[in-house]
Formats: sequence, C-alpha cells, structure tokens
Amino acid sequence: MRAGLDAVLLDIDDTLVDTRGAFTAGMRAVANRYLAHLGPAGPGAALEHWVRDPGGYFPAFTSGRLGFVEQRRLRATAMHRDLGGPDLDDDTFTAWNLTYEQAFRQAWVAVTDAVDLLERLVRCALPFGAVTNTQVDYQRDKLERTGLCALPILVGTDTLGVGKPDPRVFRHACTLLGVDPARTVYVGNDLAVDAQAAAAAGLLAVWFDRGHELALVAPTRLPVVRSLAELARWLGLPASPRTPPVARLGQLRIAGDA
Ligand SMILES: [Mg+2]
Repeated sequence: MRAGLDAVLLDIDDTLVDTRGAFTAGMRAVANRYLAHLGPAGPGAALEHWVRDPGGYFPAFTSGRLGFVEQRRLRATAMHRDLGGPDLDDDTFTAWNLTYEQAFRQAWVAVTDAVDLLERLVRCALPFGAVTNTQVDYQRDKLERTGLCALPILVGTDTLGVGKPDPRVFRHACTLLGVDPARTVYVGNDLAVDAQAAAAAGLLAVWFDRGHELALVAPTRLPVVRSLAELARWLGLPASPRTPPVARLGQLRIAGDA
C-alpha cells in the first residue's frame, strides 16, 4: 500500500462508468430522431454540443442554481437551436428526454478494471467511496446496473445541495469515512472539477486522464494515471486472485452490505 494513504475517493462518471460512451449512444438516438437533416454528421455534432455545453447549464446544476431536469432541458433546447432541431415544448421535451434516457441507460458499462479496483480496495480494507456530480439515487442505480454497487459512501449533488468543484463535497466524504483529507486520495477524470478541485480541498489528487482532455488542458503537476489498472499500481494495491467474475461480484456485494 502506498505510504501516507488512509482512504480512496473516486469520481463515478468516466472514472468508474463509461459515461462518454453512454453519451455517444444517447446523442445518436436523439440525432436520429430529431436532427435527421444533418445526416451522418448528426450524432457527432449532437455529442460535441452536449459535452461542450456552451450555455454552461451543467455547472449551473452542480452549483445548485438549476435542477437536474431543468439543466437537461436547457441543454437540449440550446442544441436544437444551434443544430436546427425542432422547438421543445413540454410534450416534445418529455419524448426527447425518454429517447435520450433509454439509450443512455442501456449503454452504461463499467470502465475497464473498475470491478477489479473495487475488489482490491475491499480486500485491503481500505476505506473508499465516491463523490459524484449527479444525484445519489440516480448514481446508485447506475452503479448497480454496472456491477459496481460496493461503494459504501456516496456523496452527490443532492447531499449538500452543491457538487464539485466545491471543496465541501470532498471534505464531507472524508468526514463520512472518518479520515483526514490530507491522507485521502481522490481520483477523477476531469482535471479542473476533479483533480485540481480535490487538491484545492486539501486531498491527495490523482487525475485519471481517459484521453478526452489532452488537447484542451495545460500540463499538470498532479499525478496522472491513464487506466484503473495503473491507478491500482499507483495505490500499491495487491493484485486480486483469479476467480470467476460472478464470484467476485458476490464478494463485493457482501462486503458492501456489511
Ligand atoms: Mg467524471
């Protein structure tokens, strides 16, 4: 185990769950139904707009200024305005949201080595949990559907009414774990909202660079890992014995319920 480390906190979206892949599926479904005039370019244009979020509606949600559905509707409305989609009145947005949500949920999968990482943390008896920028119940459902339900501590945007990068959410998770932030590592894929924010809150921050931000950010002096297997090595976690996946998940659920 790495010296000076008492606990591990993890981001969920694009750290434990492949949310970018699910965004791709959700935006493909939306583009096929509402942006068909764009042809084959539609899904890519929709995804780019959704992720870029030029109106800044998702940060407005995570800072407590907009509700979850409200920010989603504003993002969808801005996308349709910019890409030539139909106006979204109440009924049209309800159908839009269903189209998106069904495709998004069906595409949820764990990031490579996420199950193995949690299993190793359980085996080491190292306290761990998650700090996420979405509501807790929504994320619990996501974790259960992706076989990652072992997380004993989960702090979401509805826990304190704000999300990352607010330092209070990181410190609150440490309080729930009963650990010192200075001896707690936080790992997430967003350089500013995860790594730099966690460092500013007094935690040991590691940036999980999944390759989405390389062209957008300046070099960082924070530790960087490019896979969860690399993170496990950085943490100094002993490797798990080779056991069938079903047995491994069963052990995780037992450990998480204990
Ligand atoms: Mg993330």
